[in-house]
Amino acid sequence: MTRVAFIGLGNMGGGMAANQAKAGREVMAFDLSQAALDKAAGAGCAKAASVAEAVKTADAVITMLPAGPHVRQVYAEQILPNAPKSALLIDSSTIDVESARAVAAQAKAAGFRFADAPVSGGTAAADAGTLAFMVGCDEADFAAVEEMIAPMSRVTMRAGDHGAGQAAKICNNMVLGISMIGVCEAFALAEKLGLEGERFFEIASKSSGQCWSLTSYCPFPGPVPTAPSNRGYEGGFATAMMLKDLKLAQDAAAKAGAATPLGGAAEGLYALFDRLGGGGKDFSAILEMLRGNAPQAS
Ligand code: NAD
Repeated sequence: MTRVAFIGLGNMGGGMAANQAKAGREVMAFDLSQAALDKAAGAGCAKAASVAEAVKTADAVITMLPAGPHVRQVYAEQILPNAPKSALLIDSSTIDVESARAVAAQAKAAGFRFADAPVSGGTAAADAGTLAFMVGCDEADFAAVEEMIAPMSRVTMRAGDHGAGQAAKICNNMVLGISMIGVCEAFALAEKLGLEGERFFEIASKSSGQCWSLTSYCPFPGPVPTAPSNRGYEGGFATAMMLKDLKLAQDAAAKAGAATPLGGAAEGLYALFDRLGGGGKDFSAILEMLRGNAPQAS
C-alpha cells in the first residue's frame, strides 16, 4: 500500500489528506493543531506524533502549510533529515517562488525528487478532490507527481521546472485580482449612470468585457447563481487569501524587475478592503467598497 505523509491539515490540507485516505493510501498525518489532527484521524488518517515520525517510511510527503518560512523550516529541520531518499516530496502550499526554488535545491542536493505543486480552488474543491494543481518539477518526475496528486485533483498541469508551479499560481491570481476589480468598477459605474446591473451583465457577457470574473463569478448578485455574491459573499476565496497572493506577485515582480502597476494597484485596493474589515469575505465583495459601502461584518 502506498504510504503518504501529510503535513499541515488545515482548511485545505484536512480535505486533501482525507481524499488520499479515501483512495486507499496509508496516510500518516501531522499538524501542530491537535484539533486538526483529530479531524484527520476521523477521516481515516493515522496520527503521527511529529513530522519526523510521519515521514520516516513514506513513499511520498505532501505539505500544505501557511507560507514560505513554514515550508523552509519544516523541510530543513524535519523532512530532509528524516524521510527516506526514495520519497517523492510535494509542497502544495502557496509560497514565494524564491523559497520554492531554495527548498527544491536543498531537496535535490540531499538526493530527493521534489515538486512545488500549489493549487487553485478553495476548501470545497479540497474536500471534493477537484483542485487544479500547477506543478514545477523535473520533467522525468512529473508522471509520479501526477499519480500521487490524482485523488486530490481535477486537473494537474506541469508549468515547468522548480518554482514554475508557484510562478503560475501567483501570475494567475494576479490576473484574477485585477480582473475582479475591473468588473466591480464597471458595475459601480453602470449603477451611477442609471444602467441596471442585470442588463449590464447581459450585454458585457456577450461583448468584449466578457471574462471569468464576470460570467463565472459575477460580483453583482443575481446573474450567476453559484457565485458568492448571492450568499452575502460568504465562503468562496477570502479577501485575505487574495491579498496574500497579490503580495507574493508584487514581491516576485520587484525581485525579477517586472513592471506590474495594475497588480500593485490591486494589492493596494485589497489591502484597504482588508483593513476596512473585508478580509473574511469572498474577494468579489470588494464591489461593496467600490460602490462606497463599508463591508458588513461576517
Ligand atoms: P490553514 O491555516 O487552515 O492550515 C495550515 C495548517 O498548517 C494549520 O493547521 C497549521 O496548524 C499547520 N502548521 C503550521 N505550521 C506547521 C508545522 N510546522 N508543522 C505542522 N503543521 C503546521 O491554511 P489553509 O487555508 O489550509 O492554506 C494552506 C495553504 O494553501 C496556504 O499556503 C494557502 O495560501 C494555500 N491555499 C489556500 C486556499 C484556501 O482557499 N484556503 C486556496 C488555495 C491555496
